[in-house]
Amino acid sequence: EGLSADVRKLTDKRSKVLGESYRLFYRKPVHLVRGKGQYLWDAAGEKYLDVYNNVASVGHCHPAVIDAVCQQMNQLNTHTRYLHETILDYSEQLLATAPAEIDRAMYMCTGSEANDLAIRVARAFSGGSGIIVTQESYHGTSDLTSGVSPALGSGQPLAATTRLVPPPDRYRVDAPDLGAWFAERIQQQIDDMAAHGIKFAGFLADSIFSSDGVLPGPKGFLQQAIDVVHRNGGIFIADEVQPGFARTGEAFWGFARHDVVPDIITTGKPMGNGIPVSGLLAKSHVLAAFSDDIPYFNTFGGNPVAMAAAQAVLKVIKEEDLQAHSRVVGAKLLSELTTLKEKYECVGDVRGSGLFIGFELVKDKASRTPDKQLALDVTEMLRENRVLTSVAGPYGNVLKLRPPLAFQESDIDWLVGALDRSLAALHR
Ligand code: PMP
Repeated sequence: EGLSADVRKLTDKRSKVLGESYRLFYRKPVHLVRGKGQYLWDAAGEKYLDVYNNVASVGHCHPAVIDAVCQQMNQLNTHTRYLHETILDYSEQLLATAPAEIDRAMYMCTGSEANDLAIRVARAFSGGSGIIVTQESYHGTSDLTSGVSPALGSGQPLAATTRLVPPPDRYRVDAPDLGAWFAERIQQQIDDMAAHGIKFAGFLADSIFSSDGVLPGPKGFLQQAIDVVHRNGGIFIADEVQPGFARTGEAFWGFARHDVVPDIITTGKPMGNGIPVSGLLAKSHVLAAFSDDIPYFNTFGGNPVAMAAAQAVLKVIKEEDLQAHSRVVGAKLLSELTTLKEKYECVGDVRGSGLFIGFELVKDKASRTPDKQLALDVTEMLRENRVLTSVAGPYGNVLKLRPPLAFQESDIDWLVGALDRSLAALHR
């Protein structure tokens, strides 16, 4: 149906050679061949505005990252059982961005592996097994992490040791003190674990609750929840795969918006600008409980090329002042998007921090009934306007606006204009 010969050839081939779990975006799939900064080009030469990809976080094909990777690739690439400077220098630089108590770093290739190890560490440290996550969260693809990833849906059963808490959604939860409300929900689940003979090990959360619908929440509200976690002998694992690396504008790490100190930080996606590199940062006494008994080796994790990419990314974030950039441009974008909320009955809520914004579509403002179909239709129409994004949240009705940090003020018109036209055409 209206697909070009090129796209049809590739989709046909995909369906023949790839595993069937893969999902493509869009009724008319996009065939990308090139990227630069916040822009992407398809095989027909059409230019797109990328409002979705936080992996190419400092911008697609950033020359500083390319140079660092190529140079190291030309020199040496091997594993972490030999001495190498870059992993040590990078660890010092990365740990310097974290609270002082967090003083150890380990490296993997994916966010899933980082969270998988974090759960194992939490269990070794606490002697428990129970893990609490939010209702629509996603933490990875391994056996352990898919068992704490309700976003995967009913086809993927949660582990018997997993407990869910509703996300702190200011738009849908009517609580005068959201922090207290959230902390109470965590205590209830810890109590439920105890009632079932499960000892609590930890709370694993993405502090911007991306899969739950992008919920930055009021600054500082997480503290009460973390106090409950600690009082009950568990640890707090901050999954920074989404909000980390300057994304939220207000801080380098997402949790730092809430002034809390995690016991473990996990990260991935934005760390290497597309080179597979992920990490786990931890308090040394927490990590020791695991390391004393169990060796850890990750063949590709922390290799010189991955570390060179990661080091270049950190340098670019600092040199280009991308955290301040994310804060300033994100605030401007949020304000422009808020004018659309005023204009359209179907825009229920617009919220975000830095260049991470949730744009929630509803049947009408009074009922707040989620409008998933509208969100899907808007996403498709944005794609026709060459703006790439996707949806999030338990109802699939929240547009997830999360461009590379290379997104500029001058890109706002393209995005907001396309969104305005789409809503004008589609709203009921
Ligand atoms: N945690 C969060 C919050 C994520 O968004 C993701 C990936 N979407 C992961 C973990 C897993 O990362 P990866 O795909 O690199 O394994």
